[in-house]
Amino acid sequence: MSHPVLVIGAGLSGLYASSLLAQAGQRVMLVEARDRVGGRVLSQAPAGSAHRVDLGPSWFWPAMNPRMKRLIAELGLASFPQHSRGAAVVEGQDGKVYKHQSTWEQSPSSYRVAGGMQALTEALEAQLGDKVHVQANTRVHAMKLRPHAVELSLEDARGPWQQLASQVIVTIPPRLMAQDISLEPTWPERFIDDMRATPTWMAGQAKFVAVYPKAFWREAGLSGDGMSHRGPMSEIHDASDASGQVAALFGFVGATPSYRAGVGNDALQQHALAQLVRLFGAEAAKPLWTSLQDWAQEPLTAAKEDQRPLSYHPMYDVGQVPPPWEQRLWLAGTERSPNYGGYLEGALEAAELAVQGLLESLKTRPPRAQATVPAVGELQ
Ligand SMILES: Cc1cc2nc3c(=O)[nH]c(=O)nc-3n(C[C@H](O)[C@H](O)[C@H](O)COP(=O)(O)OP(=O)(O)OC[C@H]3O[C@@H](n4cnc5c(N)ncnc54)[C@H](O)[C@@H]3O)c2cc1C
Repeated sequence: MSHPVLVIGAGLSGLYASSLLAQAGQRVMLVEARDRVGGRVLSQAPAGSAHRVDLGPSWFWPAMNPRMKRLIAELGLASFPQHSRGAAVVEGQDGKVYKHQSTWEQSPSSYRVAGGMQALTEALEAQLGDKVHVQANTRVHAMKLRPHAVELSLEDARGPWQQLASQVIVTIPPRLMAQDISLEPTWPERFIDDMRATPTWMAGQAKFVAVYPKAFWREAGLSGDGMSHRGPMSEIHDASDASGQVAALFGFVGATPSYRAGVGNDALQQHALAQLVRLFGAEAAKPLWTSLQDWAQEPLTAAKEDQRPLSYHPMYDVGQVPPPWEQRLWLAGTERSPNYGGYLEGALEAAELAVQGLLESLKTRPPRAQATVPAVGELQ
């Protein structure tokens, strides 16, 4: 029996790549270091509430994201436009708050997935089928190129082990690949430098969410949109469910990762709540539930270089694989998307391109190269 294709990372890109490979009849081992799939996609709800608020990505743009639009429809998920009706508020550096009567609608319109963006990764995982084995809580440390396979060194709670793969798709951010995965034969320095120079999109960010008994800001004619030059949040939006029954606000914490680490999670949440009071009124002081997700403190998302905040959206591209690894190793993950790098749509595009390349290579490969490796054998 031939070795499976091994996909590293069960974020949106790894889940989608695995799904496409399974549809094409390939056996897949999807290896994920966290105890959950989804990667940067993370939605949480207060105990007893059905409405999950996004601590990672919230939006997709149906007019610009054809794959997201199609996949969400195929998986039978509901989506709804981002609420932005009402006045927006702006906080100056001096702490003065100004009301902007106009609505700040994103153009083209941004949409959210009912049940939180995690409903998408959960639905993808649920339809993977028995051709895909999801190996969670398992970290990839190294890859060795064998004559007709790739040997991977993995580690789970029981300790280290090895796995042979016919092909590998890497979906983890390039900086984590350079930092955490050793390669034999080693890649020329310029390939490693390219990976280190590719910022992980939003990895230096933190999101704060607060759930309320009602959307009191809407009753006051406010949309929930806010901008602040004072902080700690720089940009705030409504995060209520589609009906507005479960009310919530979220904000991107503009303060730098090092400042956030210095202040600490609890104090930062208090500062964020005080800011919501300044912007939206006294009722903001009494949330039912709050959460702060600091992605810069997640070693499976942010590399050490990601601790420096980004002030621009980088140009991403597919990335190169040095010659001995070509046709064995494929690069995916949103940071490898040529047209939508950084976005959810990019995670899908990069997965699609990697799977297309891999399937194409199988058609042209001489039969001998598809054989198993008797000298090493399947080590697990
Ligand atoms: C706060 C925030 C807000 C965002 N907002 C939006 C938005 O509104 N719209 C939008 O389109 N995009 C947004 N994004 C970006 C979006 O989240 C990403 O484009 C997308 O989730 C990336 O998916 P991925 O599969 O490429 O990578 P990831 O989700 O990072 O998946 C990589 C996976 O690899 C795993 N992994 C890492 N190292 C190893 C290892 N050594 N061994 C095994 N597994 C490993 C990780 O645990 C992870 O599960 C946002 C991101 C953040 C953080």
